[in-house]
Parts: sequence; structure tokens; C-alpha cells
Amino acid sequence: MLASVPTWICLVIGGAVGAALASWLSACAYRIPRRMNISSDRSICPHCQSQIAGRDNVPLFGWLMLRGRCRTCHEPIPRRELAYELAGAAVGAVAIFIHLYLLVVIAIAAIAIPLALAAKHGPESGQEDSP
Ligand SMILES: [Zn+2]
Repeated sequence: MLASVPTWICLVIGGAVGAALASWLSACAYRIPRRMNISSDRSICPHCQSQIAGRDNVPLFGWLMLRGRCRTCHEPIPRRELAYELAGAAVGAVAIFIHLYLLVVIAIAAIAIPLALAAKHGPESGQEDSP
């Protein structure tokens, strides 16, 4: 099926899915230790608690458009958020390019990394917050 789709379209789709998955997993890593809802609540700025607008919450583009700062309070958004989304985009593009089933294996691994980070950067750790 994918053989009939141009390669660049596969890479864009895989990258977009990977970036979105990484963004959501990063949000889960922030919310789960704080017992926050992971499915229905809108993303908020951890500094000013304002809701992040949909246009600012697009993986990769949101961080770049805002130049790494909250639109409301202008506090910095950690660069690791951009790094997670870039890594997710790269993994997604490679996975869809190589084989779709590999995406499942990588997705499982991608869940383990943010959860490990959540344990390390959880509310009790005293380290930098991120949404
Ligand atoms: Zn803010």
C-alpha cells in the first residue's frame, strides 16, 4: 500500500504522527505524577496557568512560532519540549519509512522514556516544570 504513496508524503505523515505522539507523551509525563487528567484538560502554562491556545499547541510549530516563550507571561518553555517533539518526528518518519510495525515497537519505547523522566522530574524532585 505504501509503495504507491510518494516517499516525502510518508515522511511528513510519519513525522507529524511522531511529533504529536511525543508531545502527548510529554504532557502525560507532566500530568500523571500530578494526578491531572491526560485526556480532556487543555494544556496550560506551568508558570501563569493560562490555557495554551490550539494554534500554540501544534507540535514543533507552536514552540518555534512563540520562540520558546509563553504567549501570555513570556516565561521560557523548556527546550526539551522542542527536543522531544523533534525526536518524535524523526522516529516517526524513520519508522513509517522502514516498516509500520516498527512504529508500534518504538511507540512502546517512547512511552517508557517520558514516564522515566516523569519519575525523575516529578513534583517532588524540585526540578524545572513543563506542561
Ligand atoms: Zn505563561
